[in-house]
Amino acid sequence: MTRKEFCKLTGKILTACGFLGSSSVNSETNSREERRNMNANIKLDYRIIKLNLKHTWTIARNSTNFKNNVFVRITCDGVSGMGEAAPNIRYNETPESTIEVIKKAESLFESDINLLHFVELGNAIQNITEQQTAAKAALDIALMDWIAKKFDVPLYQYLGLDPAKVPLTSFSIGIDTIEMIKQKVKEAEPYPILKIKVGKENDEAIIEAVRSVTQKPLRVDANEGWKDKNEALEKINWLEKQGVEFIEQPMPVSMFEEIRWLREKVNLPIIADEAVKSAADIPKLAEAYDGINIKLMKSGGIQEALRMIAMARALNMKIMLGCMIESSLGIAAAAHISPLVDWVDLDGNLLIANDPFQGHPVVNGKIILNDKAGLGVEGEL
Ligand code: MG
Repeated sequence: MTRKEFCKLTGKILTACGFLGSSSVNSETNSREERRNMNANIKLDYRIIKLNLKHTWTIARNSTNFKNNVFVRITCDGVSGMGEAAPNIRYNETPESTIEVIKKAESLFESDINLLHFVELGNAIQNITEQQTAAKAALDIALMDWIAKKFDVPLYQYLGLDPAKVPLTSFSIGIDTIEMIKQKVKEAEPYPILKIKVGKENDEAIIEAVRSVTQKPLRVDANEGWKDKNEALEKINWLEKQGVEFIEQPMPVSMFEEIRWLREKVNLPIIADEAVKSAADIPKLAEAYDGINIKLMKSGGIQEALRMIAMARALNMKIMLGCMIESSLGIAAAAHISPLVDWVDLDGNLLIANDPFQGHPVVNGKIILNDKAGLGVEGEL
């Protein structure tokens, strides 16, 4: 590395430290950018893209063959950052409600804003509305893609993270007929860990079908499907004997006391998914759950996900990083922060037949982050 390259890289790393609240950040490049009137030409555009699924996707709650996700692009100073929203009806989100929030955000980008002040802008995005986190995620992801591209480094490098530390991702098997489940498990041959969806009447038959074709480590997600604590206890004790590593959201979010009771009686870790959206939810959940499943679509983007990771670590909780049905764009955004977590479940793009983006390949179950700037994703809106 030449001295010039070293100085350039050092400047970028120091700038990245600003993310953690340092005010002494500076570099020649940064101070020059600060002097520019960056709000002069910020353009925000968005588009709905229909993502077709390879298989009908069924979980305890519902079934679907396609998803209409909303994609966002922020363009400024010759750089474009892109983000994705996967609206989820569980949280009263639709493509229409998502676009409504994005339209509200337009005024933020028209006002006297400097994109380099992304923490302030990220907070303003979070405050647009109470819920609708998928829309906020799209905006925050696009903003962070823009920032890292602006400094010409991959986002993981901007955040000081080692791409070699990305944990193996699990591959999800949705609820289906026993024959289809066996076929899906066979198709998932390249993935060393499976996440099995349960929460209907035939959970045991599903797991037995999976075990008849593979001995891989299994994780189980009931998606709030078990409504009786004694039934849940029995099922979890049985699942432990089947080599299951942990149970995600065994009972409805509203049954907090039952889940607390359950956790006292089982050996397997209980992970909150539907119960957790933002950092503020976590202290209470520590009383009933061993860990949390962070999804950018629930947190409202990368910046809140980082706060959630810090909060969960402070409470000595395990951390999983999951996703909705998202293209390679949304998956890439989560993958960049995945070196910070214990378990990764970033397979939403692998379930899509017409992914409009190309991101980071999965090799032997591990997402291999490339060294391109920003999210490192190819493709246009
Ligand atoms: Mg889940």
